[in-house]
Amino acid sequence: MMDNWKPSTKAVHAGTKRSQYGELSEAIFMTQGFLYESAEQAEARFIEAGDDEFIYARYGNPTVAMFEERMAAIEGAEDAFATASGMAAVNGALMALVQAGDHIVAARALFGSCLFIVDEILPKFGVEVTLVDGTDLDAWRGAVRPDTKVCFLEAISNPTLEVIDIAGVSEIAHKVGAVVVVDNVFATPVFQKSMELGADVVVYSATKHIDGQGRCLGGIVLGSREFVRGPLQTYLKHTGAALSPFNAWVMLKGLETLALRCEAQAASATYLADALTGHKAINRVIFPFADDHPQQDLARRQMTQGGTMISLDLAGGKAAAFSFLNALKIVRISNNLGDAKSIITHPATTTHQRLSDAQRSGLGITDGLVRISVGLEDKDDLLDDILAALAG
Ligand SMILES: *Cc1c(COP(=O)(O)O)cnc(C)c1O
Repeated sequence: MMDNWKPSTKAVHAGTKRSQYGELSEAIFMTQGFLYESAEQAEARFIEAGDDEFIYARYGNPTVAMFEERMAAIEGAEDAFATASGMAAVNGALMALVQAGDHIVAARALFGSCLFIVDEILPKFGVEVTLVDGTDLDAWRGAVRPDTKVCFLEAISNPTLEVIDIAGVSEIAHKVGAVVVVDNVFATPVFQKSMELGADVVVYSATKHIDGQGRCLGGIVLGSREFVRGPLQTYLKHTGAALSPFNAWVMLKGLETLALRCEAQAASATYLADALTGHKAINRVIFPFADDHPQQDLARRQMTQGGTMISLDLAGGKAAAFSFLNALKIVRISNNLGDAKSIITHPATTTHQRLSDAQRSGLGITDGLVRISVGLEDKDDLLDDILAALAG
């Protein structure tokens, strides 16, 4: 029955496990360990734990399992493993897939810590990495080799909101037998089904839209059962990236309203992008569904909405960006995203400060670029706040 449910029904009901009390809301099983009825039962469970049989919370926990099952149902994945943060998910997915001597191709425009893993950590362990302009399919074609094990990308890049052709990259990767890993945070589970487009593994920072109210860190890796319950689980259960049952419960409750929140936030983002286009203080409004976005057609093929993020390239550079940030009253300065509260970031001096000037300009991160995560406030209040701050 569940397979026929629409995503919003799955987001409310999928994966629910009830105790003998028949609680309506999901229970928080705040326990590290699990009892065995007998020594024989303990022995059997260590040989092979069945469904709904748990050993230790680093391996699995009923509340965490509810979150994993619900996410897998929404994403259309066979299975999922939840982690303590988005970065634990990215690290786990990549570490489970490669070993010394392997080759990875990754899109250059990555979230800072994702770039650190592929550019600094993996090479230390003998994994060769080639970074490419992710929007250029010829670059992917030229970079993959017979020993390429993984192609890694963020479907919508941070903070310049470039769109990568997942079907195109998947076709190139699959020809050499490489696994496509997509970090789908910016596109959200609501607006994009990366696996239907060809991705093999999808990773989320649940810290973002899935929590959506700025409370908990969390992450999840989704993929085939063979991968998730094989190399991924083996790596994660021994290295201790387990999600707390309490945080899993927060994420479960977040999933119940995920689609409503994302749709409302995307509608406001669309409205703001449109209303701000042509403003004299802004060189460029960046939004994947905007008419002047270079990959608008691709974005509309891959996603049902343009997402909840907009970026603005302010004409006055850093000084203009700083006075704009400081003048905003509703949109607050922080570096999270996907939150109910609208948030603004100046990437050049914060999230992308560590990069060299050349790297930043290669990624299109100008001194005037600001990234706005559009929240759940009234869209006209947000527009008024932004217009007043732009007027100085
Ligand atoms: C935030 C984020 C991450 C890391 O997630 P954490 O939960 O902060 O560890 C990874 N990728 C993208 C695209 C992100 O936005």
